[in-house]
Amino acid sequence: MGKRDEGLRFVRVAHRLRTLGLGLGMLPVAAVLHQQHAPAWLWSLLFANGLLWPHLAWLHAARANRPVQHEQFNLMADSAMLGAWLALMRFNLLPCVMLASMMAMDRISAGGWRVLVRALLLQIAACALVAWLTGFAWQPTSNMFDIVACLPMMAIYPVWLSTVNYGFGRRIRQQNRLLEQLNRTDTLTGLANRAHWLETAAHEMQRYLRNQRPATLILLDIDGFKQVNDRHGHAAGDVLLQELAAVLRESLRSVDMPGRLGGDEFGVVLPETGLERAREVAERIRQRVERIGRGDGSPVLPCTLSLGVAEVGPRHVNVEAWIKQADIALYLAKERGRNQVCANPAQVAAR
Ligand code: GH3
Ligand code: MG
Repeated sequence: MGKRDEGLRFVRVAHRLRTLGLGLGMLPVAAVLHQQHAPAWLWSLLFANGLLWPHLAWLHAARANRPVQHEQFNLMADSAMLGAWLALMRFNLLPCVMLASMMAMDRISAGGWRVLVRALLLQIAACALVAWLTGFAWQPTSNMFDIVACLPMMAIYPVWLSTVNYGFGRRIRQQNRLLEQLNRTDTLTGLANRAHWLETAAHEMQRYLRNQRPATLILLDIDGFKQVNDRHGHAAGDVLLQELAAVLRESLRSVDMPGRLGGDEFGVVLPETGLERAREVAERIRQRVERIGRGDGSPVLPCTLSLGVAEVGPRHVNVEAWIKQADIALYLAKERGRNQVCANPAQVAAR
C-alpha cells in the first residue's frame, strides 16, 4: 500500500470519527442554545459546523496531495471551532468540560501530546477571542436538560474511539509480524536466511549443552553452479536454486530447518538427529537433486550437490566450530569428486 493510500485511510477514519463526534456533540450545544433562546444565525452556525464541516474537511483532505498534513489542519480547525462554542455556550460547565475532554482524547489518539498541546492553545485562543467579542457572558450552571443532552456522546464516543484505536493497533501488530517474517526469510527461495538459520543452529547447540540432545548439520553446495549461470543465464540459475529449496522442503521433517546461507550454499539443522540418520537424509537429498531436470521436457537444469554432515559433540566449543566441521566435510566432498555426501568425523577431526 502506497504512502498516499495509507494517508487516505487515515483521512477516511478521521471523517467517520468527525461525523459521529460532531453529530453527537451538537446535542449538548443545541440544548444550551435552546435555553439561551439563541438567534437564528447561531443555530445556522451550529448546523454548518455539526453537519457540513465533517464532509467539507474530508473532501479537502482527500483531494490534497498530502492528505495526512491536510488532516492535521482539519484537527486544528476542529479545536478552534470548539473553543468558539465554549464561549458561545457561556461556559456551561458540564457540556464544556465534556466536549473539551472528548476533543483532547481524540487529539491524543490522532497525534499524541504534541498535537494536543497545539490544539489546546488554538482552542484557548479562539475561546478568548469569541468570549471577548460576545462580552464575556458567564452562565456555568448545568441543569438536567444539559446532562441528558451530554449522555449520548459520553456513552458512545469513547467506545467508538477505542474500537478505532484497537483496529489501528491490530494492523500495526500484523505488519510487525510480517516484517519480522520477511527479516528471517531469503527472498528468492522462501527458506530461512543466513541470520535466522545461524540463530537456529545456535539454539540447537544450547539444547545440546543443556540436555545432551543430539543434533546434526548438513551443509550443501551446488556443483559447478557458476557454469549453469554462465551457460544458461542468471534467471535459469535462480530457478535451479528455487527447485533445490523445494526438494529440501519435501525431504525434511517440519522440525528440521533448511536455510540459504548465500549464493548456492544451503544448510539444514536437524534437531534430535544423530550422524547416521542425518547422513541418510543427506543421501536422499543428493539423489533427489540428481534426478531433477533429467526428466523429459523438464524446465529445470540438471545438477548435482556436494554435502557435508556434522553432528554436534563435546569437541565443539561453540556453534562456529560445529558449522566449521560441517564445512570441512563439505570441502572434502568437493575434493573427492563432488556429487557425494561426506561425514567422516575421524577424517575431519584429523585435518
Ligand atoms: P563448486 O562446485 O566448487 O561449488 O563450483 P561453483 O561453480 O558452484 O562455485 P561456487 O559455489 O563458488 O559458485 C557460486 C556461484 O553462485 C557464483 C555466483 O555467480 C552464483 N550465485 C550467487 N548467488 C546467486 C543467485 O542468487 N542467483 C544465481 N543465479 N546465481 C548466484
Ligand atoms: Mg557451488
